[in-house]
Amino acid sequence: MKVISRDQHCISRKNISDSALKVMSRLRSNGYQGYLVGGAVRDLLLGKHPKDFDIATDATPEAVHALFRNSRIIGRRFRIVHVRFGREIIEVTTFRGHHDSGDKTSSAAHSRQSESGLLLRDNVFGTLEEDAVRRDLTVNALYYDSGNFEVFDQVGGLQDLEKKRIHIIGEPAVRFREDPVRMLRVLRFAAKLEFGIEQSTAAAIPQCAELLREIPPARLFDEFLKLFLAGYAAKTMANLLEYRLLEHLFPGTCAHLDDNTQGLALIRAAMVNTDKRIHQGKHVTPAFILAAILWPVVAALSKKLQEGGDAPMVAMHKAGQQAVSQTVQHVAIPKRFSQPMREIWEFQLRLQRKQGRKAAELVDHRRFRAAYDFLLLREQAGEDTRDLGAWWTQFQTLPFEERLAQAQPQGKKRNPRHS
Ligand code: ATP
Ligand code: MG
Repeated sequence: MKVISRDQHCISRKNISDSALKVMSRLRSNGYQGYLVGGAVRDLLLGKHPKDFDIATDATPEAVHALFRNSRIIGRRFRIVHVRFGREIIEVTTFRGHHDSGDKTSSAAHSRQSESGLLLRDNVFGTLEEDAVRRDLTVNALYYDSGNFEVFDQVGGLQDLEKKRIHIIGEPAVRFREDPVRMLRVLRFAAKLEFGIEQSTAAAIPQCAELLREIPPARLFDEFLKLFLAGYAAKTMANLLEYRLLEHLFPGTCAHLDDNTQGLALIRAAMVNTDKRIHQGKHVTPAFILAAILWPVVAALSKKLQEGGDAPMVAMHKAGQQAVSQTVQHVAIPKRFSQPMREIWEFQLRLQRKQGRKAAELVDHRRFRAAYDFLLLREQAGEDTRDLGAWWTQFQTLPFEERLAQAQPQGKKRNPRHS
């Protein structure tokens, strides 16, 4: 293992959270090892601010829990300890060992693999060297010892950091089979760090892509949030399309993209928009991003239902329902997001009515803002809405009384709707 001494790297304790330093020093003073690991070491070496500080130790979860009153053991697939300091949580994981080594009976109880090689449980403990090779990417497997300021590199992570390269540890196909979510992580970190993808890592993705279908929808939703709500959604989406993984997350959408350039343009515009908002410190919601990703599906379904005789609003409502029930077979969508997402879609029809008291009131509806932003995105993507966006842009600036005056219908004549 390569050991890098303090004068050969740029990590300074000044940039490490006091809570993380406290956890590591208490582990050491009790005779255990405790290292900073994962994203924090990677980001510190890149001169960035880590978003959280994870620690790896040779102490068991129970031993860690016993050392910190403010801690609890969580997780089943991987048991880890959360140590809480006010709002900050330090995640402490025990070194993981080889799941197929050692005493057969006890290791079977702690680790389990499905027939396809998927790792179902992985709680066999090991050494730092074993822990390093169980991690996903070489750049995520560097350890920092805050006691003597050394960095440990077992898998060539430093070289890959220098070469700006995302490189899976070990045999790519085996590691992707153990946990197919690692493919999403490869694309996500390549986008986030603006790194290339090492050749054998990239080459194994197409042959393993199908395995994403084995991942529980709830876990894919968690991963979805990380993919699109971290400020580099546009690049991540481009990677998902290039490596054809999007079709395993949102197969319905991908089935409509080949003959629908507007759909793809809308998705891309939504991603750029999301990244911009995040960098401006503005609020973003998964409901809006999902509304864009699933718009090609819902638009096609509702068109078909209208052709079958349903009224536009009925068709949109049913299409929304169907789009959600198809999607959640792959990626879960909690109700608190699917509901507003469907309201954004249904609002697209309500925005077509520019006349009447309802139009005047719509501007004050809690979903107006998101629905109006969505309308603008559709236009940006090339959909013809007969300049509806510009009309609402102007209309919403008026005080309510003026809106009412402008929108009141003349006589009993009904106003034609846009299709
Ligand atoms: P971020 O900046 O997004 O937090 P991170 O590298 O800390 O990046 P986490 O998801 O917080 O990512 O995971 C912490 C560490 O756990 C990773 O750096 C990696 O070493 C390991 N890890 C996470 N997920 C996996 C996985 N699916 N397979 C193997 N190792 C993993
Ligand atoms: Mg992390």
